[in-house]
Amino acid sequence: MKGIFLWAAIGCCAVAVAADSPDYRLPSGVQPLSQIIELRIDPSRIDFDGATSIKLNVQQLTDRIGINQVGLTLANIALSGAEGQRTLQSTGGEWDRSWLADGEPIPPGEYTLTMEFSGEYATDALGMHRTSFEGNDYVFTQMEAMYARRAFPVFDEPSFKIPYQLILSAPDDLTVVANTPPESTDKKDGWQRVTFMPTPPLSSYLIAYAVGPLDRVAIEGISVPGHVYVPKGHAGELGFVLQQTPTIVAALEDYFGSKYPYRKLDFVAVPEFAFGAMENPGLITYRTDLLLVGDEVAGRQAINVLNVIAHEVAHIWYGDVVTMAWWDDLWLNEAFATWMANTILETVYPQYNTVLNLPQDGAFEADQLTTSRPIRRMVRTEDEIFGSVGLNYTKGHALLRMLERYVGHEVWQRAIRKYVEKFAWSNATESDLWAVVSEESGLDISKMAGDYLNQPGFASVSIDDAGAVTQTRYVREGLVAEEKLWRIPMNVKYKADGQVRQTFMLLEGPTGSLDIPSSTDWIFPDAGANGYYRWSTSLDQFYNLIDDIDELSEREKIALLDNTEAQLNAGSLSMADYLYVLKRFLQDPHPLVFLPTLRKVRVIGDEFVGDGNRGAFAVFIDQSLSERYQDVGIRGRAGDSEATLQLRPQLVRTLGQFGTDETLLAEAASIVDDYLKSPAAIQSQLAREAMRITALRDDGGRYEQYLQAYLRTASASQKSNILAAMYFDEPEVVLRHLEFSLSDDVQAGDSLAALNFFSYLLEDHSLLYEWLDDNFDRVVAKAPAYYQPVMPQVLGGSCDRENLDLLEEFFRDRDDAYATSLAKVIESDEACIARRTRHANAFEQFLKPYQDG
Ligand SMILES: [Zn+2]
Repeated sequence: MKGIFLWAAIGCCAVAVAADSPDYRLPSGVQPLSQIIELRIDPSRIDFDGATSIKLNVQQLTDRIGINQVGLTLANIALSGAEGQRTLQSTGGEWDRSWLADGEPIPPGEYTLTMEFSGEYATDALGMHRTSFEGNDYVFTQMEAMYARRAFPVFDEPSFKIPYQLILSAPDDLTVVANTPPESTDKKDGWQRVTFMPTPPLSSYLIAYAVGPLDRVAIEGISVPGHVYVPKGHAGELGFVLQQTPTIVAALEDYFGSKYPYRKLDFVAVPEFAFGAMENPGLITYRTDLLLVGDEVAGRQAINVLNVIAHEVAHIWYGDVVTMAWWDDLWLNEAFATWMANTILETVYPQYNTVLNLPQDGAFEADQLTTSRPIRRMVRTEDEIFGSVGLNYTKGHALLRMLERYVGHEVWQRAIRKYVEKFAWSNATESDLWAVVSEESGLDISKMAGDYLNQPGFASVSIDDAGAVTQTRYVREGLVAEEKLWRIPMNVKYKADGQVRQTFMLLEGPTGSLDIPSSTDWIFPDAGANGYYRWSTSLDQFYNLIDDIDELSEREKIALLDNTEAQLNAGSLSMADYLYVLKRFLQDPHPLVFLPTLRKVRVIGDEFVGDGNRGAFAVFIDQSLSERYQDVGIRGRAGDSEATLQLRPQLVRTLGQFGTDETLLAEAASIVDDYLKSPAAIQSQLAREAMRITALRDDGGRYEQYLQAYLRTASASQKSNILAAMYFDEPEVVLRHLEFSLSDDVQAGDSLAALNFFSYLLEDHSLLYEWLDDNFDRVVAKAPAYYQPVMPQVLGGSCDRENLDLLEEFFRDRDDAYATSLAKVIESDEACIARRTRHANAFEQFLKPYQDG
């Protein structure tokens, strides 16, 4: 049906667990039907207690009931059914389960399971967690993926989609909010007891509530009531968010052809947050620095804020109303929201040029590793879910975009609407989506999608001058990986006889043939730049294309640039070819084609520049960038385009880090002084890069200035900006800041940032590992649990053999949980080291003309 989803009329509940559920899942014979959760929450205490009542359908004779909980104490467990009430005992089991039993069989039938429980709030921002902010205590929640079980006993799997009713008691001077509006409130003895309306069928990872001295501001202009809840005293910092949210919600309603489906749409700014934001229906939570951004927001910061809001609200339709059946389809959940958010930004906010952000370029980097894994794969635990979660977003987004282009926008949109309508208030899998898209389009999508989902990596497609097409798996030079094949929808642009034309080919096997004239000058095998594959042509044709580069769109140019680097890394182009293309791209007039070029120049600087060639590289940087810098300047100017606002911080950063312009450095330092006094005075991204280069060029004396400004400011976005810019490398400052990162002044979710950027900044990592030898347990205790499996990647990326040895030695025998991440770091750092060794001479040749200034 179109229009508002009438969940109440649909009844409950989807039964999606297979009869023989695997051992890490709860047994399939016991189905929860609905759950009431009562919690007594006083944020000034470290512990909480509660009670729950769960209606169950026992479908087959069993001797025990499994339920998820971790860290809770259970008491007074009772099972009431047609034959009266029984008292059950709890024993702990694997996979965060408790088994409830009394030694007698439990016959099929409907029951009510009740129990009391107590526990302590989490402090790592996951589950029901407690935080102090500006002298006030709060309790917030983050239940995805498997953290609801930290807060209450629950059937904590996404396919148990049932109505939940929350009853929250809290001191009566505090604000209490949850997924649904309150039904009633009783006050007694300084406490309030708020009974919230039951939710529609919901997966437990989407339950949310917040308790504390929250202020609120209404969001005007959306189709349901909505408010933004903020920590006390911050209601005045929401201008941009209040203004833009209705536009985003309306655009999504328009795309899906149905109204926002829950009773209310509240946002909460959470001062201690492990992720960016979380799509809890009716109560979306965000990091404070994403909501408390004030009125004037531009450049990357504006894009980030709009993108995250669009992403979370898009999840409402896919994620919340339609939910994956199990975590192996988390990729689809995230890919869908990421793709949808980008669609909204491209169509509703064209001024930000987000069409020039290519998701595949981010994905290729991780997916090219021979240790890469398929994005759809078996997962059992939190660690397995988050072990390489990043590809879910980027590769998944790139895949959906490629498929959307393949079937056509309109067919795709019709299919999405049908899919959401068909599976509303229940669960669905990726194959359900492909079935709908295939039906709408008449094309067999599921096999094609499966190639990208169930296999790691991607193809490199080569096309020779006669049009013969071959695909092999892309690997970096010198590496070997198991061969794979993909079904590849290729849009090909080529020039022949003075005319640019476009054609389509579906490559379904290892080879194919492209129908092009023998007079073809060049081929660009990724027209539109939506393909999830790399490509190469003959060197002659490649140079013809570079000479004719303005026949490509900006998006295509960016894809070409990235592909050129990939072909360098694969060994099919030389360093000289690559640097030729980089220099050519540094002349591109479009700021957002120039920008990714600049990033690649900086990567070259990071990898290839040392004491011996720093001077020559600085001359190259000054000469190549000065003209652009004259145009763009360092301070914002009235009438700056969004593209310029995005470019300026990176241009300043590159010149400041690698160039010799003393005036620029002095001006950057004065921007830092202005910003630390008054954050509103300077665009946030520019301030961040100015702080970074000022720190890089400083002897550590400014650390105190940054630190004091961080401690003093009430602005969440300034706080995180300063924390991201502590680019000091003096040993005493490094040690002091590492220690500071573990203090209560730094959020759990930010506690690893310092280790990450020190491993980028420091040439020799011995200091980091000496410190970690003494402090690793504290680091692990402070950081959100989901970071654990990726700790080696936090410290990797140095492109240095000795540092890599230190890293291997540190993690090798520590814990199996690090093995996957460690293998990835080793592979990518070794590839980087090999690339530097291989191309060092060619780079020196390139720098020769710049050696004498
Ligand atoms: Zn998401």
